[in-house]
Amino acid sequence: MENINNHKLKRDIPSGVKREVRQRCGFGCVVCGNAFIEYEHMDPEFKDAVKHDAMCITLLCPTCHGLVSSKFWSKQKIIECDKYPFCKNSNTARSVLSSFSESPTVVFAGIEIRNCKSLINVNDVSILSIKEPEEGSNVYRLSGIFHNSAGNKSLVIVDNEWMINNDNCDVDVSGGCITIREGLRRISLKICIEENNRLVVENIDMSIDGVVLKGGRDELELSINGVKNNIFGGRIENCMCGISLRSV
Ligand SMILES: [Zn+2]
Repeated sequence: MENINNHKLKRDIPSGVKREVRQRCGFGCVVCGNAFIEYEHMDPEFKDAVKHDAMCITLLCPTCHGLVSSKFWSKQKIIECDKYPFCKNSNTARSVLSSFSESPTVVFAGIEIRNCKSLINVNDVSILSIKEPEEGSNVYRLSGIFHNSAGNKSLVIVDNEWMINNDNCDVDVSGGCITIREGLRRISLKICIEENNRLVVENIDMSIDGVVLKGGRDELELSINGVKNNIFGGRIENCMCGISLRSV
């Protein structure tokens, strides 16, 4: 695939243009809502484009992208879907996080949590939990609910399927990570999958019921009803609940 076209335009789309496309399309494939996305020049096609215009680029998942590239679907179909993006209609983009063949390790504030039924609880509500595989399956099921710093839901995971809504400022899915922003420079959540079986909370800026979690992979500032503490390092294994926080 040519990385530069006849008009000397590079294939790499500037990050600001990509963000504009993501926001306009609701962070998912305009046809089916899958949150794993690729960027597709609609009209003009990349070979004829003189600039990367956000209004002329859309989001497609690899499957839908393949159907267009192999001419099973027409460009016109995609142009029509771009006018009414799936995720703008459903308010949700979704995809599968991973299929964990053993109980995943969660890395958070320098703490490795393994083999715990619930990983983090706030006021007895589980923020991250793991269920054993269903009968006939060997896939462990991770579920979670994350909020941003204003206390609004930013990411929901149900049995390895994750969902985001259009209220987020920006959602970027790349490099094995989901990054959710509530402002251009403010990350409310970044989680990454490493080595198939580790979920790393790289960044978190979350408020829920008087509990504020701010930090990431190595260290965390924890505030409960305004009283601050720092958490870092350790290993928690084989328990019912890894970290339990309580503000009431
Ligand atoms: Zn699709």
